[in-house]
Amino acid sequence: MTTRTPLMAGNWKMNLNHLEAIAHVQKLAFALADKDYEACEVAVLPPFTDLRSVQTLVDGDKLKIKYGAQDISAQDSGAYTGEISGPMLAKLKCSYVAVGHSERRQYHNETDQICNAKVKAAYKHGLTPILCVGEGLEIRKAGQQVQYTLNQVDGGLKDIPAEQAESIVIAYEPVWAIGTGEVATPEDAQEVCGAIRGRLAELYSQELADKVRIQYGGSVKSGNVAAIMAQPDVDGALVGGAALDAEEFVKIVRFRD
Ligand code: PEP
Repeated sequence: MTTRTPLMAGNWKMNLNHLEAIAHVQKLAFALADKDYEACEVAVLPPFTDLRSVQTLVDGDKLKIKYGAQDISAQDSGAYTGEISGPMLAKLKCSYVAVGHSERRQYHNETDQICNAKVKAAYKHGLTPILCVGEGLEIRKAGQQVQYTLNQVDGGLKDIPAEQAESIVIAYEPVWAIGTGEVATPEDAQEVCGAIRGRLAELYSQELADKVRIQYGGSVKSGNVAAIMAQPDVDGALVGGAALDAEEFVKIVRFRD
């Protein structure tokens, strides 16, 4: 049986300036600097403006915390005002980059095609994409959450070869649960995460599907994380609001304690 190390990632969204970022990462590092620290991989996704500060801290203190960006341009360089490219993120030694977060899809009209181009840009520059997928409330009410989400998986992974896809992280984030306090039940999370793994097996192979980490995201807190993590196809959490409180995020990471 494949063992997948859970990935607990904090998506800070547009919060914490670079000084607050340093204080926050120091708190995380201090609270996770013992053997349990090995139990999960921990990552933070700060705003672009914090990445250099986080890099300096992580490098200087040899912290095991990983970091990444919340978005990536599909282009490498050029006249794309306001965009940040893969080479820039790679230079900052980012490990991860979120692609297709529902807030990007909603406010920046990011389609599956754009997400696919961003997944390709991430791999081109040695970054691991965290591909975010998940349905809105209307789709859920119509009972179409599985098909809708699998279409996003297909779109995001179009033409991605197995050698790359085996390292992808997929975050299932039902839009109705993001930032609303409305958490999916563990069974809801398992239904879609299990279907995503099944689709990976169809697209590639069962062996590859067994390697891929699938996170749940949507109002994860210390009080609900253990039940969600007990599901067989949930391999971590993408945490928004609760990741801004270092103490709470540490409790989420230490869900087994
Ligand atoms: C997110 O931003 O990816 C997220 C899941 O947010 P929250 O935990 O606040 O619902």
